[in-house]
Amino acid sequence: MTRIDRGIVVLGAGPAGAAVALGLRRLGHAVTVVGTPRAFDAIEGVSDRVVAGLRGVGIEAALAAIAEPSPRRATWAGSTTALNHERLVDRAAFDRLLWQELQDHGVECLLARVMRWVPGESGDGGHTLQIQRPDDAQPQTLRARFVVEARGCLAPHPPQGVTRGPETVALLWRGQGAPGGAAGSAVESLPGGWAWCARLPGGAVALQLTVDPSAITLPPRAQLGAFVREQLAAVEAALPFLDSPAAEVHALARTSGAVLAPEVCGDTWLRVGDAAMAADPLSGNGIFQSLSSALQAPMVVHTLLNHPADAPHAQRFHTERVQGLFQRFARIGRDFYAQEARWAGEPFWAVRRAWPDALPAHGAEGDAPPHIEQRPVVDRDRIRLAEVLVTTEQPLGIWHVDGVEVAPLWRAARAAPGREVEALAPLLGGSVPRAQAALRWLRAQGGR
Ligand code: FAD
Repeated sequence: MTRIDRGIVVLGAGPAGAAVALGLRRLGHAVTVVGTPRAFDAIEGVSDRVVAGLRGVGIEAALAAIAEPSPRRATWAGSTTALNHERLVDRAAFDRLLWQELQDHGVECLLARVMRWVPGESGDGGHTLQIQRPDDAQPQTLRARFVVEARGCLAPHPPQGVTRGPETVALLWRGQGAPGGAAGSAVESLPGGWAWCARLPGGAVALQLTVDPSAITLPPRAQLGAFVREQLAAVEAALPFLDSPAAEVHALARTSGAVLAPEVCGDTWLRVGDAAMAADPLSGNGIFQSLSSALQAPMVVHTLLNHPADAPHAQRFHTERVQGLFQRFARIGRDFYAQEARWAGEPFWAVRRAWPDALPAHGAEGDAPPHIEQRPVVDRDRIRLAEVLVTTEQPLGIWHVDGVEVAPLWRAARAAPGREVEALAPLLGGSVPRAQAALRWLRAQGGR
């Protein structure tokens, strides 16, 4: 058995693992990514916001696998709209480009399956990873100082403490039709779930039927494709995707409910993306959410490694953000399910319009007046404590607005409610126009 020693090892090279690896390279760290290609092809839909998010974390070349926006028809809550657009992504092609892009940025990429991760205790010399490369007869052992878990929904969870949404399974059919047809997608709600269909410009077709596994008897794997097509044969939105002959590439059932890991961060490890929390795919926000949890993770890792005194703040920062994102997106999903009132009493819908709770998607923390708290913030390349303004809309706090520190501005504005910003700006050491903009923002939050 060969032993190799590494600094930071990222497990998995999906959007979350790639975002963290690139961010850590920018901060000057040597990074090794261990990954295998996705187990199956998938077509997914993303918004322009995701493309901007990918660019924001430094992903450029892989964007070539994201198609131009195509029409998206939505039949939901009794009405049909065809005004939306979404960008369709062939995930196998996207992930392949991502793998190459990581190497182009100096990330060491090991094509291997992670068989086992034995976490190390802080200070004991690190984590032990057992990896299997495709051409090796024997597994190898890697020793890593820090591990970023980004194996998506395949990342193992501890037996206790995982938060799960309603049990959900997506039945997927992928086929290859003739190129040249119009690209587009459609979603439609059904009494027992919902359907999503898409066609890429190259003719690849995806059919997805999302259901509650306890309400459906699944056929044997070999008949799954025919089953999905049969279920969708009477779904109006699916018809344009069923009419052209397409050869089946694969059909499979994939667990797809919301999941939140009980712990997302330790002294020498971190979970990001779906490995930390996965959302209900209804939102079409999975990649966006995985990027959101990965965006500031490099600064968290950097702090844990280089500024141990701030480690508790870095861990709190990452944990609060992941948990906050999970709750917020779970409630947004609930409200979207609740819009569909036609089958509110059907088991699939009844449970989803009530999960996770009855709190509002925005402002769930109550209507406490805005106030100042010490909370962890990102200060350039690290996390540290700072005074922030906490509001109902921003429960994690706002530190700066357009370069102006908010807490002193808030205090100054409260101490002299009648004073104009021209008088306050010098007190804050900022420029008048910037302080004016920050004060306008503050007043919109209920400040003075
Ligand atoms: P992943 O993209 O899953 O990446 C994890 C990587 O780790 C993969 O490359 C995998 O091969 C690798 N890996 C796993 N195990 C190992 C191992 N043992 N060793 C080495 N490597 C390993 N999101 C959208 O934005 N739009 C959609 O339309 C959409 N549709 C979806 C439909 C369904 C049915 C489901 C289930 C999800 C959907 N999502 C969608 C969600 C989206 O796929 C994920 O949120 C996103 O890919 C998460 O990114 P990630 O980097 O965390 O994980």
